[in-house]
Amino acid sequence: MLTESQRFDCPWCGENNWVEMEPGDLGQLVIQDCAVCCRAIEIRLPEDADQPVEIFPAD
Ligand SMILES: [Zn+2]
Repeated sequence: MLTESQRFDCPWCGENNWVEMEPGDLGQLVIQDCAVCCRAIEIRLPEDADQPVEIFPAD
């Protein structure tokens, strides 16, 4: 199974970001900094890589 990546909008600045999902990461909560504004974003990865990620602002 290949690594999937998914696009999402930063909850802080609205810019496009990408998150990579390893098969073992599915269903996990990860923190990633926005590539544009560098603020922390909480990303809940779906159980199924075909489903959309859920995005929350993390502080
Ligand atoms: Zn941002």
